[in-house]
Amino acid sequence: MSSTAQETLRRVFGYDAFRGAQEAVIESVIAGRDALVIMPTGGGKSLCYQIPALLRAGAGLVVSPLIALMQDQVAALHEAGVEAGFLNSSQTDEEQRDVVRQLRDGKLQLLYVAPERLANGSTRALLREVPLSVIAIDEAHCVSQWGHDFRQEYLQLGELKTLFPGVPRMALTATATRLTRNEIVERLALDDPGIFVSPFDRPNISYLVQPKTDAKRQLLKFLQGHRKEAGIVYCLSRKKTESTADWLFAQGYNALPYHAGLASHVRSEHQRRFLNEDAVIIVATIAFGMGIDKPDVRFVAHLDLPKSMESYYQETGRAGRDGEPADAWMVYGLQDVVRLRQMLDDSDANEEFKRHERQKLDALLGWCEVTGCRRRPLLEYFGDQPENDCGNCDGCLTPVRTWEGTEAAQKLLSAVYRTGQRFGAAHVIDVLAGKTTDKVRQHGHTELSVFGIGSEFDATVWRSVIRQLIVRGYLRSDAERFGALVLTEQSRGLLRGEVTVQFREDPKRPATVRTSASS
Ligand code: ADP
Ligand code: ZN
Repeated sequence: MSSTAQETLRRVFGYDAFRGAQEAVIESVIAGRDALVIMPTGGGKSLCYQIPALLRAGAGLVVSPLIALMQDQVAALHEAGVEAGFLNSSQTDEEQRDVVRQLRDGKLQLLYVAPERLANGSTRALLREVPLSVIAIDEAHCVSQWGHDFRQEYLQLGELKTLFPGVPRMALTATATRLTRNEIVERLALDDPGIFVSPFDRPNISYLVQPKTDAKRQLLKFLQGHRKEAGIVYCLSRKKTESTADWLFAQGYNALPYHAGLASHVRSEHQRRFLNEDAVIIVATIAFGMGIDKPDVRFVAHLDLPKSMESYYQETGRAGRDGEPADAWMVYGLQDVVRLRQMLDDSDANEEFKRHERQKLDALLGWCEVTGCRRRPLLEYFGDQPENDCGNCDGCLTPVRTWEGTEAAQKLLSAVYRTGQRFGAAHVIDVLAGKTTDKVRQHGHTELSVFGIGSEFDATVWRSVIRQLIVRGYLRSDAERFGALVLTEQSRGLLRGEVTVQFREDPKRPATVRTSASS
């Protein structure tokens, strides 16, 4: 049995070997047993149902909550030569009829549907007309009423058991506490499922996250500890990967850019050199890394924030696959926070998708500001419950100091309010500092009660305060008003003194001279 699975893995997907629990899951499902699969993001859950769908008779049904992800998967399957389709609300009637026809003709190997579709009597009737090979329920934690991803429509998926007797059902997720696991099995009515839990912790990876002060200089300092080693530096834009690679090259590092806009022969040449030569640094957008299996990547550095904890975990997971010590290093700043939120607001994805992505981004931002052990909340996010601090992250090795920031926060929020919630960080900070710039004079802001009330801190501290207030939802940067800072619902409690805040103390900017505003 497993030799056919092996053969399919190689022929259809082009991979040499299964990863982690994949093979065990696939064998168990092919044998007809239900399964609960808990695997980190990027661990390779898709193959766990795609291969059984190809090897068992009938069409594989995949329940997936996010339309955008559904489309990506189907496109990737088409590229691999697999007959796949989806049914969702984004399609025209004709497109839907087409998919239904293919399904009825027995041409579809995989069919993706949104959960609400399955509540629909006609969809159910349609699916009962054709043989199904397997039913995979992705993002199965959405069935849990305790999680923040709960979806009403998931509750009905338990009915699939009686609707499609004898078809093995799989629940897959990257996030599940022990409690949620039981809930998934119960609510989806899985029948004595095989349970496959992959470990999330990567104990040999050390996590280091710093506020961005002078990113290039910070990166150079970090790289001093990684001379003659291979690593990946992630940036958000194509242009930045090129300029960063050039600059690193000039600093004596063997750095090469990689992004989807490069000619394909250049990309494969850079990838080949990264895999085969010693100490090559790839400076890449997220286009790089899919399916790359280089065991001795000693560091992954993020010059820009990824878009979620899931992406972060997946990208940093490319470090230290050989089990030897490796570093996951990242810098982030106010600009990143504002830019990522803006990109999300501006994208033309539907509201539901945006809301989901916003939650995920917020989880990452909150994690960046963590003051204790970093591994603990990282693992907790994915449903693990570590007993101890790890001793191998910045929070454990160099504890962050915090300060009582309620008064500073009140001053900042007052300055935002008094200046009319129309200005960006730089201007608000000038007002707090009591700087008489042209803009300050022009708007008559020297007359405000908040003018000069924040001179005890320099601009770096105020930027750090603004960043932390934004991350915690006490302040918002309004993209429609060119990044103007505006108050939120939550700000009120802080202004009234009903809540207090502690800020993390950012490390001092390395080797810069502090100049005072007035002299
Ligand atoms: P998940 O759904 O668990 O987040 P995916 O199924 O999307 O993960 O897989 C993540 C990446 O790993 C994909 O690019 C996939 O092609 C790749 N991958 C999965 N299994 C293997 C394997 N056995 N060998 C090499 N690459 C794999
Ligand atoms: Zn730790």
